[in-house]
Amino acid sequence: MTRHDTTVTGPAAPGRTVLVSGAGIAGPALAYWLNRHGFAVTVVEKAGAVRDGGYPVDVRGTALDVVRRMGLLPRLRDAHVDLRRLTFLDEDGSHVASVDPHAVTGGVAGRDLEVRRGVLADALHEAVRDEVEFLFDDSVDTLDQHRGGVDVTFRGGGVRTFDLVVGADGLHSRTRALLFGPEERFHRYLGHCFAGFTLRNTFGLVRETAMWNAPGRAAVLYAVGDDSDVHGFLTFARAEPPLDAFRDPTAQRDLVAEVFVGAGWEVPGMLAALREADDLFFDVVSQIRMPRWSGGRVALVGDAAYAPSFLTGQGSSLALVGAYMLAGSLAAERDHTAGFAAYERDTRAFVTLNQDQVGEGDATLFPTTARGLERRNALLRGLGALPPPAEGRPAHEALVLPEFRIPR
Ligand SMILES: Cc1cc2nc3c(=O)[nH]c(=O)nc-3n(C[C@H](O)[C@H](O)[C@H](O)COP(=O)(O)OP(=O)(O)OC[C@H]3O[C@@H](n4cnc5c(N)ncnc54)[C@H](O)[C@@H]3O)c2cc1C
Repeated sequence: MTRHDTTVTGPAAPGRTVLVSGAGIAGPALAYWLNRHGFAVTVVEKAGAVRDGGYPVDVRGTALDVVRRMGLLPRLRDAHVDLRRLTFLDEDGSHVASVDPHAVTGGVAGRDLEVRRGVLADALHEAVRDEVEFLFDDSVDTLDQHRGGVDVTFRGGGVRTFDLVVGADGLHSRTRALLFGPEERFHRYLGHCFAGFTLRNTFGLVRETAMWNAPGRAAVLYAVGDDSDVHGFLTFARAEPPLDAFRDPTAQRDLVAEVFVGAGWEVPGMLAALREADDLFFDVVSQIRMPRWSGGRVALVGDAAYAPSFLTGQGSSLALVGAYMLAGSLAAERDHTAGFAAYERDTRAFVTLNQDQVGEGDATLFPTTARGLERRNALLRGLGALPPPAEGRPAHEALVLPEFRIPR
C-alpha cells in the first residue's frame, strides 16, 4: 500500500519537480534543502516508515554546519551518545587497554556528535515531513528519461513524471543499478564482512564499547546508554565477498558461527544471540567509487554515490554534506546539467579525501595477522591511554559550505 503522509499543495514551478528515492539520511536532508530552494519534492521509501535502527553514527566537521543550518543542532546535542571509553581485549579476553573513543574515531569531544542513526533519521524527516510528499512502502520500478522529464513507474502501480530523480537509496542503490548498471562495477570491497544485531546487555556495559580481537576476527559490544540492550558486531576478514550468503539470513548466521567457532570472551553468547536476533544486519565492508554521480536527469547522493564504509565513520556526514551541496547547486545553476556538474565539481574532492581515510581505522580496529595484532596491542599498552585529539581530522572539515541563496 502506498501511504501519502503529506501532499504538497499548489502547483510546482515548471522544471522543478524532484523525486528522491530513499528516506534514510541523505534523502530527507536533500528533500529539506530542495524544498527550501523552491523545488516540489516527493520522497519514496521502500520501508513502511522511517527506519529506527539504533546503531550510532557520527556527525562531524562540515556536516555539523549542515545540521546547524537546518536548526537541528540542539536536538542532536541532547541525543549525543557521549561514549566514555573503548576497551580493547586480547584473544583470551584479557584487558589490553582502555582509550578515549575519540582517539580512534578522530572525533573531537564536545564538538562532534554521535547519535543513534534512528534519532538522526527521525530528526531529518520531522524537519521536512510537513513540506514535502512522502510515499512509504513503495519504490521505483522503472525510470525512463526523455527530453521533457523522467517517467517513473512505482512498484505500487503508480506512474508519474518528474523533472529530476535522485537516488538516495543507500549502498545497494537500485537507482544506481537502473542508471549505471550492476553494483560490482563501482564496489570496492575492503576485505571484511560484518554481522550487526542487538542483544541483552548482561555485561554491565554503560556508554562504552568493548572490542575483542583475534587475527582477522573482531567482536564488539557497544552500549549506547545504560539500556537493557547492546549492539553486537561480529566482523571478520575474507579475501572474497561471500556472495552466496547475501540473500539468505540462515546462511549468514551459519557463516558467522563457522568463522567464530572456538572464539573466547563473550563470543559464544553473542553467537547464541545472533541465532535468535530478529534485526540481523549482514553486509560486506565496502565503498562505492563512481566516475560520475549523474546521468541526464538522474543523480545520486550519499551512500548510493560514494559510501565510504563504516571504517571511516563518515557515511552520515558525507550524506548530509552531499545533500546540501546537490540541492544548492541545482538551485544556483541555470539547469540540471549545470547543477549536477557543479555538485560534483565542488563536492568530489571532499568525498575522496574522506574515503581515503579508510586505512587508519582498518589498521587500528581489525588487524588481520598475529603480528599486526601484537604490534597494535603493544602500542596500546605502551600508551596506557590514548588522549582525545585536540583537533578533528582535517578531512572531516575539508569543505567550507557555500552560502546558497534561499529564496524565502
Ligand atoms: C553497522 C553500521 C555502522 C555504521 N556506523 C557508522 C558510523 O559510526 N558513522 C557514520 O557516519 N556512518 C556509519 N554507518 C554508515 C551510515 O549509516 C550510512 O553511511 C548513512 O546512513 C548513509 O546515508 P544514506 O541516506 O545515503 O543511506 P541509508 O542510510 O542506507 O538510507 C537509504 C534509504 O533508502 C531506502 N531504500 C533502499 N532501497 C530503496 C529503494 N529501492 N526504493 C526506495 N527506498 C529504498 C532504505 O530503506 C533507506 O531508508 C554505519 C553503517 C552500518 C551499516
